[in-house]
Amino acid sequence: MSQFIIPPPPRIAIPVAGRDALFPVRRIYCVGRNYAAHAREMGNDSREPPFFFQKPTDAVVASGSTIAYPPETRNLHHEVELVLGIGLGGADISPQEARRHVIGLAVGIDLTRRDLQNAAKEAGRPWECSKSFDASAPISALVEWPAGEPLPQSGRITLSVNGQRRQEGNLVEMTWSCTEIVAQLSRFFRLAPGDLIFTGTPAGVGPVVAGDWVQGEIEGVGVVTVLVN
Ligand code: MN
Repeated sequence: MSQFIIPPPPRIAIPVAGRDALFPVRRIYCVGRNYAAHAREMGNDSREPPFFFQKPTDAVVASGSTIAYPPETRNLHHEVELVLGIGLGGADISPQEARRHVIGLAVGIDLTRRDLQNAAKEAGRPWECSKSFDASAPISALVEWPAGEPLPQSGRITLSVNGQRRQEGNLVEMTWSCTEIVAQLSRFFRLAPGDLIFTGTPAGVGPVVAGDWVQGEIEGVGVVTVLVN
């Protein structure tokens, strides 16, 4: 058995709510523009098909952490999102079959360098520098979702900064439902246990500055909190 020539990178995982267990993270997928009101505030039509991007696995930040304000931006934005945890892999999953591939739910914040994203859009360049930077994926504990229970189709989703409400929406406003997103994503990528899917953000995105305390919450799912330093 060969030795590693450098220390192998640590296994990334998030806690499972209510018990002493971890969900190991394989990949992080994200959906762009999945709430009509947020799509409108970003200047887009509401009925476009979903599109996807990724964040690196080690962008995960545990709730309760302090993160550094990232370099190379003057406009860091918060986006609170429902996150799906995949427990059963597959490709070409139908919307009807998708439910059983999701083992749990979490609350995530898709941190975004909005200035770099706007510049990338204008230049037709990729989004990695605006979306996939270090510590760009704060996330709550994963709440296991009982197999017999449908995924939530409604529920308040909110984000506040220093206790002031910034984002407020409802899961019922999602353009593509949780099961439709799993189905669509699985046409492009074979999903595997450990994948996380950020499902898009409601209206009200805005800037975060150093010293801000950011808290996202989804009714019936959980809370994620980070301090930006
Ligand atoms: Mn997002």
